[in-house]
Amino acid sequence: MKPSKLHILFWFLRLRFSRYVRSNRISTSRINYWKNTLYRSAFYNQFSSTKDFPVMNKQRFMDHFDAINTVGIEKSEALDVALASEQSRDFTPTIGTISIGLSSGTSGNKGIFLTSPTEKAIWVGAILDRVIGLSFKKRKVAFFLRANNNLYESVKSNSIAFTFFDLKDSVKMHFEKLVELSPDVLVAQPSALLQIAQCYEESTRQPSFTKVISVAEVLEEDQKMYFQRVFGCSIDQVYQCTEGFLAYTCRKGKLHFNEDWLKIEKRYLDDQRFHPIITDYLRSSQPIVRYELNDIIHEGNPCSCGSKATVIDRIEGRSDDVFQFDVQGETVLIYPDFIRRAVISASDDILNYFVRKTSKSQIEVSLEVPAEHSSKEVFDLVRKSLINTLKTFGVQSVEISQIDYVHNPMLKFTRIKNDAR
Ligand SMILES: [Zn+2]
Repeated sequence: MKPSKLHILFWFLRLRFSRYVRSNRISTSRINYWKNTLYRSAFYNQFSSTKDFPVMNKQRFMDHFDAINTVGIEKSEALDVALASEQSRDFTPTIGTISIGLSSGTSGNKGIFLTSPTEKAIWVGAILDRVIGLSFKKRKVAFFLRANNNLYESVKSNSIAFTFFDLKDSVKMHFEKLVELSPDVLVAQPSALLQIAQCYEESTRQPSFTKVISVAEVLEEDQKMYFQRVFGCSIDQVYQCTEGFLAYTCRKGKLHFNEDWLKIEKRYLDDQRFHPIITDYLRSSQPIVRYELNDIIHEGNPCSCGSKATVIDRIEGRSDDVFQFDVQGETVLIYPDFIRRAVISASDDILNYFVRKTSKSQIEVSLEVPAEHSSKEVFDLVRKSLINTLKTFGVQSVEISQIDYVHNPMLKFTRIKNDAR
């Protein structure tokens, strides 16, 4: 069910107001309203006297799916509907008026997320306020997504026209259509942006985007600079996952949490990295309460744009992808940043790379290098650099091998991956 335009406008104005007036504070009336809806959840009702809500993760969230949601949907039913829709690539699965979304679980452990028409109106209002912006001029937005999300479809209106490009097909195949369309705004994950940028570099046609928005994956600084150069505009980020629309880029180019409706607790991993634990005061069909994400966040300095909402300096990756080694009986953690630095500092001839820990003491590296360069030579430099980095952590005798570089647009684009669990 699509939310009405009036409903969207209502939320747009409300969220614009709250962004300006109290960028990092949730109103008391909102908290009270949220509490009333929260206790309709059988799961949360049991904590109504203590208010001592447990920290959740995807596993626990899914284990208690039936008791958590307030709309009487069972997990098995939701999963059947969502999987059937993924198969048919008809991305509008609903049960009654509730939309069903599936998160891409890497370990086969998928999360199911429910959205009511009101929550959809809120999301659209927020996206219009913080990402796309309202304009009297008709604008065309091109979306490159792995799966069309019916949330995006609902933003369609007289002033905004959306075109969805399915990443199941190659970007090269879509490129002609993209050039023909000549959209004002381009929205895609970094891996797709990379291919679009490469297509533009090989083409005689130049892009004329007013805005490029990177979603869903970690946008690395080198990629951002490259996209800025090719697309000729700034690259905004949206930190959005199935768990919610979490952060947006302000006019000063900083990524701010939406703290006018999200409470962000920080679980520190060391003195600079934390996992956000989110409580969403606007969700009621499936309350998100103290939900710990395993994204590794670095906090930035306060921003001069006027918003007091927490600034994200960068999203380093996911905790699942931290490399773990056993050194004399102790577990040593090596965060993705260290691996990243070891690789890019090794040679200027690396266009792209992928480092994967495959077992206790084995690492695979694949490198994309310019055609005129020998990837073997570059690999030798990367290998040496990785060994040096590992040594600084006391990690010895790790086997590092090279595998061919293959790009798969359907896979989540992660440069550092840990498959040794
Ligand atoms: Zn700002």
